Amino acid sequence: MHNKSIKELAAGLRAKEFSSVELTQAMLARILQFQSINSFITVNEDFALQQAKNADARIAQGDFGLLTGIPMAHKDIFCTLGVKTSCGSRMLDNFIAPYNATVVDKLTAAGTVMLGKLNMDEFAMGSSNETSFYGPVKNPWSLDAVPGGSSGGSAAAVAAHLAVCATGTDTGGSIRQPASHCGITGLKPTYGRVSRYGMIAYASSLDQGGPMARSAEDCAIMLQAMAGFDDKDSTSVDLPVPDYQAGLAKDINGLKIGVPKQFFGDGLAHEVAKIIQQAINDYQKLGAVVKEVDMPNLKLAIPAYYIIAPAECSANLSRFDGVRFGYRCADPQDLTDLFTRSRGEGFGKEVKRRILMGTYALSAGYYDAYYLKAQKIRRLISEDFKRVLKEVDVIMGPVAPTTAFGIGEKMGNPIEMYLSDIYTIAINLAGLPAMSIPAGFAAGKPVGLQIIGDYFAEEKLLNIAHQYQLTTDWHRQSPKGFE
Ligand code: GLN
Repeated sequence: MHNKSIKELAAGLRAKEFSSVELTQAMLARILQFQSINSFITVNEDFALQQAKNADARIAQGDFGLLTGIPMAHKDIFCTLGVKTSCGSRMLDNFIAPYNATVVDKLTAAGTVMLGKLNMDEFAMGSSNETSFYGPVKNPWSLDAVPGGSSGGSAAAVAAHLAVCATGTDTGGSIRQPASHCGITGLKPTYGRVSRYGMIAYASSLDQGGPMARSAEDCAIMLQAMAGFDDKDSTSVDLPVPDYQAGLAKDINGLKIGVPKQFFGDGLAHEVAKIIQQAINDYQKLGAVVKEVDMPNLKLAIPAYYIIAPAECSANLSRFDGVRFGYRCADPQDLTDLFTRSRGEGFGKEVKRRILMGTYALSAGYYDAYYLKAQKIRRLISEDFKRVLKEVDVIMGPVAPTTAFGIGEKMGNPIEMYLSDIYTIAINLAGLPAMSIPAGFAAGKPVGLQIIGDYFAEEKLLNIAHQYQLTTDWHRQSPKGFE
């Protein structure tokens, strides 16, 4: 049961081949069996079984959709009513959310069963899941490698078949990069397509939640439930949500693909480049036309992001002060001691580094030199995309410069870690949607192809990804020992 698609499971549930309770029990057993990959922070068996029972009752009454009774899990950045929401941090290790994120509400209303909360980099800051207070997650494809980050728990759990699908968030690549490293499909929607209400803020102008699953079809089913206007999020966009599943079947003959030459520079591992090239060739066989494009400002994405994201995080994380909620130090002497020690003890090293960088960049005297300049670069990058997306339908390239690297390999060198997002960050700065789809393996480790589209082109991206998945089986592979 555990390795079936959402549609197959929905058919099985409807035909009474198995119940949601049985399916949920099977997944809970696997979570226990594969505990050592550390993909879950919280597993809530009673909660999950109760939701499964409710789903079975709905199915018996004929009131169901494709997601009714499907066991999934949420990245621990999404607030879940009555269930610990840690954001991967000691700061929120004791935090029980008093409300649900809109995404959680919507997926619950669709009938999904929440198995638990997934491990992640602390406050979503990282590219390897190693900054988590709860320890690193192991990549099911290679247990001494990272799963990618920050949605590393989500990607590993889906790849290991511990959850049928999962939510993730992407501020600079955190859905796509772990999807790529774990051989699953992930979609970062257009900024504003999915509500950020109840999603703990890292960098508010960049954060976006999205689906992570085995296939584009499963992502389409999930996004259908997740997307849409939310008056609780002032940046949520009031546009109709298309029928993503209906869009999957469209013919992609004549599709115009742009390939930025900047994506194939020195930093890209040869074996990754080969696989990406092959995937683009496969699209040509499906009738696509490929054109090289020039995006000269892409190289500025990392420095601009590492000013803007820390600047926003320094403001967002100021609410964690030991007073209102979260970690409080023992025996504070006075108010300053309470603030200083609660934050000093509650946050990990990478989060502190970002708060320091952000506060510095925003301070009087440096604001113009760093923050304002980074915002100008952000505009230049958006304009590069706008120009190119007038000429082509989508842009394709790698998701990450290498396959999953070893646990511990980059933790001593933050710059090297930041560089692992070199192909994903620009897309967040522009606010565009993008996907990672499995495209092959290099020395046994998965490689993802990135597909970037115009604003609100999720339907098109899913369609293009699905057409590729109809003719390839990379997305159907399972890591050894987890079949
Ligand atoms: N790795 C990037 C960072 O550390 C992106 C993280 C994310 O998308 N949440 O900020």
